[in-house]
Amino acid sequence: MRRILSLVLSVSALLLMSITWLLLRKPVSTERKDHMERTLAIIKPDAVMAKNTGNIVNVIENNDFSIVAMYKTRLTREKAENFYAVHKGKGFFNELVNFMASGPIVVLVLEKEDAVKAWRNVMGDTNPANAAPGTIRNLYGTSIGSNAVHGSDATTTATDEIAFFFPNV
Ligand code: ATP
Ligand code: MG
Repeated sequence: MRRILSLVLSVSALLLMSITWLLLRKPVSTERKDHMERTLAIIKPDAVMAKNTGNIVNVIENNDFSIVAMYKTRLTREKAENFYAVHKGKGFFNELVNFMASGPIVVLVLEKEDAVKAWRNVMGDTNPANAAPGTIRNLYGTSIGSNAVHGSDATTTATDEIAFFFPNV
C-alpha cells in the first residue's frame, strides 16, 4: 500500500513539474524574432574586379549570417547618387558615385541576430588602414574610397536599403 502511495506521489510530482515547465517556458519563435535582423551588404566594384566575391561570401558564411537574397548588378551614376544621397554635398561624393558606378557589384540581404551591428563589425573601419586585422576591409580594401564592402548603418537605413535593391524581399 505504501509503495503504491509513494508511486502515485512521484507520478503526481512529475506531472506538476511538467505542467509548470510548459506554462513558464518562453515560446521559441518569439525569442528568435526578438533579435533576428536583416541588413544590406554590397560587395563593391573594387572587390568584384579583384575576384574577391567568393572570399567575401566565405567570410559572411563563416560568421553565421544567412544569405536571404543575392545578385550581381551594375549601378548607373544616377542610381549610385540616389543610394548614397545622404552624402550629397560632401567633398568625396563625386568620387564615391563614380567609383560605385565603375563596375559590377554584388548586393546581398544578410540575416542574423543584431545583423546591422554584426556586419559592420565584420566589415571593419571605413578606412582600411584603420580596420582591425581579419576584418573584410583590412583583408580586401585598399583605400578609404576602395574599401571592398558596404553595410547599412542602422536598422531603419537597412529597411530602406533592402527595398532599394530588393523590392520583393
Ligand atoms: P559604407 O556606407 O560604404 O558602408 P561607411 O558607412 O563605413 O561606408 P560612410 O561614412 O557612410 O562610411 O561613407 C560612405 C563611403 O564613402 C565610404 O565607404 C567610403 O568609401 C567613402 N568615403 C567616406 N569618407 C571618405 C573620405 N574622407 N574620402 C574618400 N571617400 C570617403
Ligand atoms: Mg555608410
